[in-house]
Amino acid sequence: MRLLLVEDEKRMAQALCEILRQEKYDVDHFADGLDGLYALETKGYDLAILDVMLPHKNGFEIAKQARKEGVLTPILMLTAKSELDDKVTGLDCGADDYLTKPFMTKELLARLRALGRRNINSPDGTLAFGDITLNKETSTLFCGENSVRLSEKELRILEYLIANQGQILTREQLAVKIWGYDNDTEYNNVEVYMSFARKKLNFVKAKVEIKAVRGIGYELRYDHV
Ligand code: CA
Repeated sequence: MRLLLVEDEKRMAQALCEILRQEKYDVDHFADGLDGLYALETKGYDLAILDVMLPHKNGFEIAKQARKEGVLTPILMLTAKSELDDKVTGLDCGADDYLTKPFMTKELLARLRALGRRNINSPDGTLAFGDITLNKETSTLFCGENSVRLSEKELRILEYLIANQGQILTREQLAVKIWGYDNDTEYNNVEVYMSFARKKLNFVKAKVEIKAVRGIGYELRYDHV
């Protein structure tokens, strides 16, 4: 499981990284709020741990901004005891859980396991829309009795479209989400991968379609009548 840790206290961060890696989490650590936000928005983590007080952007702001950008990664907030209203603010801003410092390692790991199981919007690592189901663990797309394996990019495209169902996503949003901000991927690539994703949908005979909205972007549609 890929985990993002944003914590500026050196010793705390070092200790957490060590513990989490022992528990087989694949950890990326950042000490700066802006770096943390950028990573959270672009790298598709399975879990995130955010400290509240951070340089340049605090944990609440990071969570709020990331949610606004459509990031669904479960977020655990670390708060200091003195920050009394943090619990409320933390949940308001889109964090999923909070833990007060100092905490027991056991408690932290238990919370992370619970959040990890939540895995975006279903308990078993699957996402569903219309007649399709996506299994993230195995990168497989299902429709009725048909199934097909997806490439990493196809999986992320469909995952993002399902997570934002009912909305038109621009090419730019998709490019940023799938390839990251600092990637100079041409928007044409988005179209190429959209056509790959469409082929996979056709292959499993899904009624769900990726509709291009001229001049704007893409939308996932399910016309079942
Ligand atoms: Ca701090």
